[in-house]
Amino acid sequence: MEIKTEQDWKDIVHRCFRCGYCKFTHEFSDYNCPSYKKHLFETYSTGGRLWLIYGIISGEIPWSQGVANVIYACSTCGNCTENCRFEKFNDFLVDIIEAARAEAVANGFCPEKQKALIERIENQTMFNPYGELNSDNDDLKKEYNLPDEAEWVYFIGCTSNYRQKNLRDATLRFLKKTNIDFTLIDEHCCCSPVMRTGQINSVKDFINYNINQINKTGAKKIITSCAGCYRTLKKDWLKYGFDYGFQVFHTVELVKKLLDDGKIKFNSEYNKTVTYHDPCHLGRHMNLYEIPREVYKSIPGIDFKEMKRNRENAWCCGAGGGVKIGYPEWSLEISKERLDEAKLTGASVISSVCPFCRTNLTDANNKYNMGFEVIDLVEILDELELEISD
Ligand code: SF4
Ligand code: SF4
Repeated sequence: MEIKTEQDWKDIVHRCFRCGYCKFTHEFSDYNCPSYKKHLFETYSTGGRLWLIYGIISGEIPWSQGVANVIYACSTCGNCTENCRFEKFNDFLVDIIEAARAEAVANGFCPEKQKALIERIENQTMFNPYGELNSDNDDLKKEYNLPDEAEWVYFIGCTSNYRQKNLRDATLRFLKKTNIDFTLIDEHCCCSPVMRTGQINSVKDFINYNINQINKTGAKKIITSCAGCYRTLKKDWLKYGFDYGFQVFHTVELVKKLLDDGKIKFNSEYNKTVTYHDPCHLGRHMNLYEIPREVYKSIPGIDFKEMKRNRENAWCCGAGGGVKIGYPEWSLEISKERLDEAKLTGASVISSVCPFCRTNLTDANNKYNMGFEVIDLVEILDELELEISD
């Protein structure tokens, strides 16, 4: 089953029987839900939120800003889906929360700060959630001498293109160095931020636009270095009914393939102790856990350390689900907890494969003077000498 229509989630939300398993990771005897851990109030747990939603559906609870604010106080990290023991239901917890947000928006209760996301994305000079003038990527195409048609499109994503340019440029250099036949498009937001916050009215127009841009290049493969774009292109665009004819990869999957095929070898070392933060949208949302680890571990000199909560148990960086824009201080507190955990590994570097994680971990690292180097895997690769074979 997929949560596609309003009726789908309304039909199943009553199945939550408020056992409370979803807010606790028994293996670590700790709360796993950032929202519950912050508020320690049942309504802010997944089960509590679902019962609130049930109350709204049944008409017992009227919509109000207070009710909507509880539904928005969730980073959509998906940790609850791993801990709810109710199989065949647990997959849908985040979908239900997102669907309820769409209902909040339809009833006029989207929180003010999150509204900025849709206002900027729909602004005809922007098309991105950061309020920057739209980059049609033509300058980058010229700088990197990229063709109009190619086998691959690098879908940069708004966070890399407007906030994490170093990550974007490292990806571009990597693709060039490894002789990948790729190009760029004049991309508009993939719509992850507005899907996650229930502001979905123009989502189909944006998907349609991006798919048309991709199709013009003839590309059959898309690469992205962003966990949020990856989930959105690979899962949500299909969920919205678009049957596109290309495959979607995260950069780390391409790196792994090139390593496996012997097309790249490392000719230098990265002599640092590194711990890896699983992005929620790559790990729990897309089940991609081992490939990044295999790539890190293949780098000569690296001392790779796992944090206590890793893979499906990884603690969220705090940025997702509209939490960074809606609750900026809390977002950094969540990130601080991740950095505290990273400290225990003895690592000097915390690395991830998502520009949004990179942003929030960096912000918390700076705010709390944690002393880490926060860097994306692609940026690490960019520092290394690569030997390329055809
Ligand atoms: S979401 Fe699952 S684990 Fe959480 S209270 Fe409901 S049934 Fe229990
Ligand atoms: S998605 Fe994360 S923050 Fe939201 S209810 Fe589930 S565990 Fe809590």
